[in-house]
Amino acid sequence: MRVPFRYHYFLQSNLRIAIIGQSNFAADVLELILERSKFQVVGVFTIPDKGSREDVLATTAASHNIPVFKFASWRRKGVPLPEVLEQYRSVKAELNVLPFCSQFIPMEVIDGARLGSICYHPSILPRHRGASAISWTLIEGDEVAGFSIFWADDGLDTGPLLLQRQTNLEPTDTLDTIYKRFLYPEGVKAMGLAVDMVADGTAPKIVQTEVGATYDPAMFKVENQQLCLAQSAVGIFNFVRGLDSVPGAVATVVLDDGTEEQVRFFGAHLYSAGPVKDGKALKLKGLAKPAWVHEGGLLIEGTDGAFVNVRRIKRGTKMINASDWFKQAEHQPITDFSEDELAKKTQLASIWQAILKAPIEGATDFFAAGAGSMDVVRLVEEVKDAFDVPLENENVFMAPVFDEFFDQLVRNLRQGSGGAGGKQVEYKGFQLKANKRDIRVPTQLFINGEFVDAEKNRVLEIVNPTDETVLCEVACASANDVDKAVQAAHKAFFGSWKQVSARQRGQLMLKLADLMEQYKEDLATIESVDSGAVYTLALKTHIGMSIDAWRYFAGWCDKIQGNTIPVNPARPNNVLTFTRKEPIGVCGLVTPWNYPLMMLSWKMAACIAAGNTCLIKPAQTCPLTALKFAELSVLAGFPPGVINVLPGKGSDAGQAVADHPLVRKLGFTGSTPIGKHIMKSCADSNLKKCSLELGGKSPLVIFADCDLDKAVKHGMSSVFFNKGENCIAAGRLFVEDRIHDEFVRRVLKDLRSMTIGDPLNRSTAHGPQNHKAHMDKLIEYCERGVAEGAKLVYGGCRVPNMKGYFFTPTVFTDVEDNMFIAQEESFGPIMIISKFNGSDVDSVMTRANRSEYGLASGVFTKDISKALSFADRIEAGTVFVNVYNKTDVAAPFGGFKQSGFGKDLGQEALNEYLKTKCVTIEY
Ligand code: NAP
Repeated sequence: MRVPFRYHYFLQSNLRIAIIGQSNFAADVLELILERSKFQVVGVFTIPDKGSREDVLATTAASHNIPVFKFASWRRKGVPLPEVLEQYRSVKAELNVLPFCSQFIPMEVIDGARLGSICYHPSILPRHRGASAISWTLIEGDEVAGFSIFWADDGLDTGPLLLQRQTNLEPTDTLDTIYKRFLYPEGVKAMGLAVDMVADGTAPKIVQTEVGATYDPAMFKVENQQLCLAQSAVGIFNFVRGLDSVPGAVATVVLDDGTEEQVRFFGAHLYSAGPVKDGKALKLKGLAKPAWVHEGGLLIEGTDGAFVNVRRIKRGTKMINASDWFKQAEHQPITDFSEDELAKKTQLASIWQAILKAPIEGATDFFAAGAGSMDVVRLVEEVKDAFDVPLENENVFMAPVFDEFFDQLVRNLRQGSGGAGGKQVEYKGFQLKANKRDIRVPTQLFINGEFVDAEKNRVLEIVNPTDETVLCEVACASANDVDKAVQAAHKAFFGSWKQVSARQRGQLMLKLADLMEQYKEDLATIESVDSGAVYTLALKTHIGMSIDAWRYFAGWCDKIQGNTIPVNPARPNNVLTFTRKEPIGVCGLVTPWNYPLMMLSWKMAACIAAGNTCLIKPAQTCPLTALKFAELSVLAGFPPGVINVLPGKGSDAGQAVADHPLVRKLGFTGSTPIGKHIMKSCADSNLKKCSLELGGKSPLVIFADCDLDKAVKHGMSSVFFNKGENCIAAGRLFVEDRIHDEFVRRVLKDLRSMTIGDPLNRSTAHGPQNHKAHMDKLIEYCERGVAEGAKLVYGGCRVPNMKGYFFTPTVFTDVEDNMFIAQEESFGPIMIISKFNGSDVDSVMTRANRSEYGLASGVFTKDISKALSFADRIEAGTVFVNVYNKTDVAAPFGGFKQSGFGKDLGQEALNEYLKTKCVTIEY
């Protein structure tokens, strides 16, 4: 088409444009037009300020020194106001551009510019004429959405068309998404293009047809926002999304007492998974059957028998998750603000004030004060910037009132920054008065962030092994209790825990470690009284290494990452393949009694760092530190359900964990027979992944060329450390014949001076065995050794004349390979010594490996070749050279053969709690 000459003339000589409208959209159109130097915006006509709040179009225009005119109305009783017309005419506009205008503009203005007026409308005209075109596009289930730019005339959206654009509607689209992803960004660009086309004379004027024309009611009228529930599920879904997020579809809940409450629905989606189990009925006016409040929202059945699920409900000014309808307010408002937090409140108020341009009070409602969706984005960004907290737009909708919003912010800050942390938790417990301390210890199950009694109030008796008195009774979990904990962990895994970023997770873990440090004397005292651990060792190892484990794994949280993998391209296209390391889900942890808190921490810290949720069944004989730990986890701010602690018996609670179909991973430490049994249960239940840290019979080989002092010192601790209740304890010592007698003599000398007694006494080196059955087994073990002909040179019996489960440190020599005590683990303070000849290294290696266990091993020699050769040939997961028991949270730990598989500690432990997903993209 030839361009008429006069249009060229305008193009060359600064087309004079008036913008009439309001909002960010109009402001962006203005900016776009200003980018083109060939145009001159001679005036901006917009709405008056709301209070002290100016429309953004006015602010933008003023910043470019464009004259701004603010009219409350352009006419009165259908007649244009002369002073308004005069001001409009004063700018001598040649083209009126109406990007978004809520006012009625008189024809004197529409036709007042020589080139006319172009106007944006958010539908594909002539369909959906009227003010709520986008809503109707969704409500009517259109397959496409779009917009039109038309030449304004005296009709209502009936003028000739200039251009149109369209996009397919996605099933996930709402009023918000379609506007944000298409109508807004493409609309701004198209307005710019339309102005260009007018300027260069190529803008068509296509008369609108009346075929398919609709004129739809305005949805800003409350009567039009009522959701009709007597229609198909799709109909309900389309109506809700057509009004999401403003103003929301109105429904009426009929409460139990017959009163009615008007609410608004948001976040609807079709739900094809059928009726929900465990839902709670909610009566909605106009719906024949009850709706169901369930974990994922509110499920409504349409007249066609299909379902629609609603995720969020607005009650009054507050948005809640539909699933929380029946819950009391989850949080009591915070009252103990610190000075720093109060300073932040002032800072937050100034952010609100800058956005709302109005004074802020505790009850100020963000939306009632006039904020729109762009203000939400601004608030979120400014708050994130000022306070360095994660925040989503939804948080503003959930807490639109200033005080609520601040409360939420403080919770977020406390959780994320390791500030004051979570709340104190109520529990039934007992008062442990020991070690000059007075310690409150929980005695209930810890499920979903609360301490609760076990089903049928079942309890376990907890005995102090030092004096054989009953310390307390602790709740004993049943299979049903385990199920409750698993459900809570499952919900948290797919809910609150997913909202916590990897870095925040690390901060929570560090906070927990700090609390453990703060309470370490209490924890060590409890451990000592409950398990018989010597207090000083409990402080350093049981608790110290637990704290280290939480700190170590906290550091991993935001470093868990996959790889990009160079695979063969799918020519002519390319392929990108990458892996993601994802948490597995709900993990069950089952631990033994020898290092109660440390076993918990080794497993749980890796499990939580990887992003899982978990439940732990500690050993039934000493669950107290695990329960105190649970209390600290609440203080640290872990969301409910992420960590659950269930004391109970292995045969029912432990078994229920292994059998549960929602548990996807089992981390087990314990004996080999139970490990085998558990592995079968894992396979039979749901093929859950498992890692097994099992028994050991670790060989320690001492060559004559060793540093004998060192060998004796470490040889002693390899057996007697933690009264032999140590999985990597050296179960068998091979001592070269040349130093054998001297070695034994020195060991016996040290043993005779070993202080045995109250583990809380700082000079005690050897405390009581963990529990009576264990001590009895040790006595039997020694009797068997003697019966088979091994030479008992020290101990072998209970410590005489002493209350408590004290077992005398024991030494056997002349132990032959075929004897029971040469093959089986004692798990107690029993040194089993065999001789070997220094010229026969091969044989000693063969003997050391002749065991179905393969947990740890050690060698003492000054000959580096011998040491390295030993490390090469020994079949064990851990090798110590000239040292023993030197474990570290950064070093992988775990056995070979029937000592199990899977590692605790170190980076490798993370993999036990992660799954790898491989993603391939062709491009
Ligand atoms: P265990 O009898 O195997 O018990 C370990 C845990 O498993 C306990 O919590 C126990 O509950 C539970 N359990 C028992 N039967 C179960 C079942 N059917 N299903 C699920 N859980 C069940 O071992 P332990 O006597 O406590 O501990 C000593 C053993 O652990 C030794 O063999 C030692 O070598 C080994 N251990 C290995 C490592 C390592 O890292 N490799 C570390 C420490 C200890 P109850 O409390 O009710 O018995």
